[in-house]
Amino acid sequence: KPTVAIVGRPNVGKSTIFNRIVGERISIVEDIPGVTRDRIYSSGEWLNQEFSIIDTGGIDLGDEPFLEQIRQQAEIAIDEADVIIFLANGREGVTAADEEVAKILYKTKKPVVMAVNKVDNPEMRSDIYDFYALGFGEVFPISGSHGLGLGDLLDEVLKHFPEKTTEEYDENTIKFSLIGRPNVGKSSLVNALLGQERVIVSNVAGTTRDAVDTPLTRDGQDYVIIDTAGMRKKGKVYESTEKYSVLRALRAIERSDVVLVVLDGEEGIIEQDKKIAGYAHEAGRAIVIVVNKWDAVEKDEKTMNEFEEKIRAHFQFLDYAPIVFLSAKTKKRTHTLLPVINKARESHNLRVPTNVLNEVIMDAIAMNPTPTHNGQRLRVYYATQVGVKPPTFVVFVNDPELLHFSYERFLENRIRDAFDFAGSPIKIIGRARS
Ligand code: GDP
Repeated sequence: KPTVAIVGRPNVGKSTIFNRIVGERISIVEDIPGVTRDRIYSSGEWLNQEFSIIDTGGIDLGDEPFLEQIRQQAEIAIDEADVIIFLANGREGVTAADEEVAKILYKTKKPVVMAVNKVDNPEMRSDIYDFYALGFGEVFPISGSHGLGLGDLLDEVLKHFPEKTTEEYDENTIKFSLIGRPNVGKSSLVNALLGQERVIVSNVAGTTRDAVDTPLTRDGQDYVIIDTAGMRKKGKVYESTEKYSVLRALRAIERSDVVLVVLDGEEGIIEQDKKIAGYAHEAGRAIVIVVNKWDAVEKDEKTMNEFEEKIRAHFQFLDYAPIVFLSAKTKKRTHTLLPVINKARESHNLRVPTNVLNEVIMDAIAMNPTPTHNGQRLRVYYATQVGVKPPTFVVFVNDPELLHFSYERFLENRIRDAFDFAGSPIKIIGRARS
């Protein structure tokens, strides 16, 4: 998916435009505690073209001086995006801060589309002429609060998307990423997996970004480790900010089939782990939980079970994810990881026969009668699998409102009992039978 970034000094309306473009998208999770709702990264769609969008204004760069912050946000846009929307405010004309942003953007060859916000009616269109002087070609007047001009702006943005690239890797290749807070041992684990085989390929054909992907082949299976922490170019100031690492993690998750949520067995689980795991779940990827540093844990025969219980209690929304205990340092049990990844990927791609699925659903209903609401009983007619990655089921009912989360959850569990979806989330969508 191509990536669009919005840059501009504060208060020009970046998040308003971001939200307008993203629209209301429904995530597959109802409620994950700890997942922040202030979005800086999401997907948009225009003319059937999907893209990712980043609100660089949401990346808080801490104590840096004001001008330094907006410069760094512009640098991030240049690093991450295929097309940059440079946003300014028509009510205030060209300011010194706009010129600072422009100066950074002059350095990139990436396409920059200039948009001027808060042009709420046609009479205000003359407010935009000054912005031509910044030299980014046509200037697009828009109004975030009234939703005006966005179509023309997005038409222009789409024109600059890179040519459709073919699938980056063979479809049998398993793409996975490692996410987790700093120091849980992500890079160490990558090194342990690679052993002598370390080959770093950057700028693989088809990728427009400077992502670093690492190929790996084991037992005849090809893998690619996506955007591994610790192997990318370091040293930029913003690399250490939390929101930026979240952004990088989200982008790695998006390109992955399987996501490894890496925990530190020595330190235990903290709130940040939960947040990170929530992102992976929300993206609908296959998930494996890895407990690293198991060598450093004093254990008896109960320790592993106790840790597992703790994980299950903290990450209830990840009840489908297998857990692998290992040590990147001693390499103990690291060989058990790839087979679990293979299985998770298989689950993520699993299609089940419609007749068996319907038997399972009907048996489930016979066992646990459907709920009623205001005297209305939920009726389930038919279910069918409409997709994979993740496996997605549409259940045709009399009224989708009656298909409550708890009953949906019950059906999910019955489906999981009948078929092996270990490692993969599954999605159930209630639809009124027409
Ligand atoms: P990252 O930030 O998640 O990539 O973490 P690193 O791979 O840089 O590791 C952070 C620290 O944990 C380093 O000091 C590693 O040597 C240490 N570490 C990594 N894996 C293990 C492990 O399995 N056992 C122990 N005892 N230490 C580890």
